[in-house]
Amino acid sequence: MEATAKTATTRRRRKLRAQDVMDCLGAQYGPVQWHVRYSPAEELVYTILSQHTSDLNSERAFKSLMSAFDSLHAVADAPVDAIEEAIRRGGLAKQKAPRIKNVLCQIRDEIGGFDLSFLAEMPLDDAKAWLKRLNGIGPKTAAIILCFSLGMPAMPVDTHIFRVSKRLGLIGQKVNADKAHDILEPMVAPQDVFAFHMYLIQHGRQVCKAQRPLCGECPLAWGCPARPKIEREAKRSARKPAAKRKKV
Ligand code: SF4
Repeated sequence: MEATAKTATTRRRRKLRAQDVMDCLGAQYGPVQWHVRYSPAEELVYTILSQHTSDLNSERAFKSLMSAFDSLHAVADAPVDAIEEAIRRGGLAKQKAPRIKNVLCQIRDEIGGFDLSFLAEMPLDDAKAWLKRLNGIGPKTAAIILCFSLGMPAMPVDTHIFRVSKRLGLIGQKVNADKAHDILEPMVAPQDVFAFHMYLIQHGRQVCKAQRPLCGECPLAWGCPARPKIEREAKRSARKPAAKRKKV
């Protein structure tokens, strides 16, 4: 009993580490299983479609695109307005259609097709650099392709991971999203990067939400440096009349 109390005190005092996140969120959400969703080039197209829209919309837009055109070659050859029409339901079709066509044409010009499996044979940093040279491909898209399609230990950082990592103090308050990839990725062993990514996303969606995070239900509350401020603001907000309540 004494040992348990001492452990709890020690945990409260020390800075929370990435391994604590793995342990606590692993216990909370259970094991995660990596499986291939799309080929790397398809994943790239899907990621462009997923920008600024929900998973449901991006899936619909991707299905609609792939049923309108038989292959990525056909998408690359299609007029931009035909691509735009096919992906309209995903939102921002005017911006996404030329982006998809341009990047597919660039890849095909360089390697003669869309088989990007050679990236898995490259060192991780070289594979990232190869992708980031492509038009409109940043650290997040590169990491998604390498992690989801090729099973490489790259850490995609989306809006949920960025927010939760900052609240947990894993990254500094002034770190930007691009830099966060390089900081978070080496915090866990390569074989844990995919699970680290999945746990933080799930936690950001279900508990550590952008508005009104559920700190009282959070298994990381014991070490979270953001919790006291968030709870103070939530109490202050609860005391205000409903019309004047500020979102926390
Ligand atoms: S304690 Fe609150 S702010 Fe911290 S990680 Fe949990 S839900 Fe997010």
